[in-house]
Amino acid sequence: MQVLVVGAGVVGLAIARAACLRGHEVVVAEATGGIGNGVSSRNSEVIHAGIYYPTGSLRARHCTRGRRMLYQFCASHAVAHKKCGKLIVATDAAELAKVETLLTQGKANGVEDLEMIGGNAARALEAELSCIGALSSPESGIIDSHAYMLALWGELEDRGGAIAFETPVQRMSFAAPHWQVEFGGRDAGTVTFDAVIVSAGLGAQPLARRIEGYPPGKVPPLVLAKGNYFGFAGKAAFARLIYPTPVDGGLGVHVTLDLAGRMRFGPDVEWIDHESYSVDPRRAEMFYERIRAYWPGLPDGSLVPDYCGIRPKLTGPGEKPVDFMVAGPASHGLPRVVCLFGIESPGLTASLSLAEEVIDSLAA
Ligand SMILES: Cc1cc2nc3c(=O)[nH]c(=O)nc-3n(C[C@H](O)[C@H](O)[C@H](O)COP(=O)(O)OP(=O)(O)OC[C@H]3O[C@@H](n4cnc5c(N)ncnc54)[C@H](O)[C@@H]3O)c2cc1C
Repeated sequence: MQVLVVGAGVVGLAIARAACLRGHEVVVAEATGGIGNGVSSRNSEVIHAGIYYPTGSLRARHCTRGRRMLYQFCASHAVAHKKCGKLIVATDAAELAKVETLLTQGKANGVEDLEMIGGNAARALEAELSCIGALSSPESGIIDSHAYMLALWGELEDRGGAIAFETPVQRMSFAAPHWQVEFGGRDAGTVTFDAVIVSAGLGAQPLARRIEGYPPGKVPPLVLAKGNYFGFAGKAAFARLIYPTPVDGGLGVHVTLDLAGRMRFGPDVEWIDHESYSVDPRRAEMFYERIRAYWPGLPDGSLVPDYCGIRPKLTGPGEKPVDFMVAGPASHGLPRVVCLFGIESPGLTASLSLAEEVIDSLAA
């Protein structure tokens, strides 16, 4: 089939690669001038183990399987990464109960080698930590996500696929047996495809509304939850990822590390109603408070506003989090078009596994 993938983020690139591997002819249309310019360049770059998500959900399945595939991909494609491990820490009895629930959830999801350790054992690993217990996840890690996307792009091109940059998809309609896709930008015009995958991140809902015949009631709401990061001006205090217990809308302000060993904190959860990428320095106050719960040694004046990312959520504050939404013909009634909605965390980790399922669904 001639397959169009809309969006050159990490998920779109993984889908395009999977389509090439299945022998399809693939074009990726990307609105901006480069790969990974959307949500994919504004995240924690953590390879998640698969602990948090309800067993059997797309997030649980594709995170756990995608993580294993991602480590293999990184090894075979020389993508920089590190299985540094992670501790989810409890600072009081209530948090300890939550962390124990996470252990049960993670085990049910098939995450390997999880174990509860006491406060002393946690401090033996990370001397600066203050906690009464922690869940240790040795399978968690970090990745150079841009290098990963470049590797996906390289493999896509090696197998005959191509990316059209500055080529936003404006609208599309089905005229049997093809999709007529209208592009704007550099090479504006209409091109036909056999199948279309919409992997457009924050642009998925607006585009779905411009697909002729797509039932408006089947387009889920788009809820924006900004995640702000603060950099740390100093020597890293930890060698592992350190996470508090999860909060409404996110995993809590955690310690993330880059491959150079630099430490940063975030993301928090700021519900917003339009896209904006500024980090309000006043949020530092709340960061100090949250981080000092597990790292009392955080020095005054050490946090500097860094970057932020926007989670494309499907539910808002106080609402039950929902799964990734992969909407194929059974959902909207249109042939050979799949729309991905709400691909927030752990979309980076899940990308290779999710991509396979999306491409397999075209053959069904
Ligand atoms: C704060 C934050 C932290 C996160 N941390 C992690 C983490 O540590 N680990 C992890 O596994 N996941 C994490 N995630 C999730 C992960 O980053 C996302 O799931 C993933 O990047 C989504 O990729 P995507 O390809 O779906 O979207 P995007 O990267 O946004 O790509 C979509 C692309 O589509 C393009 N586009 C939109 N509309 C159109 C159109 N009409 N025509 C053509 N192109 C279009 C956009 O320009 C964009 O390039 C995090 C997310 C956030 C926000």
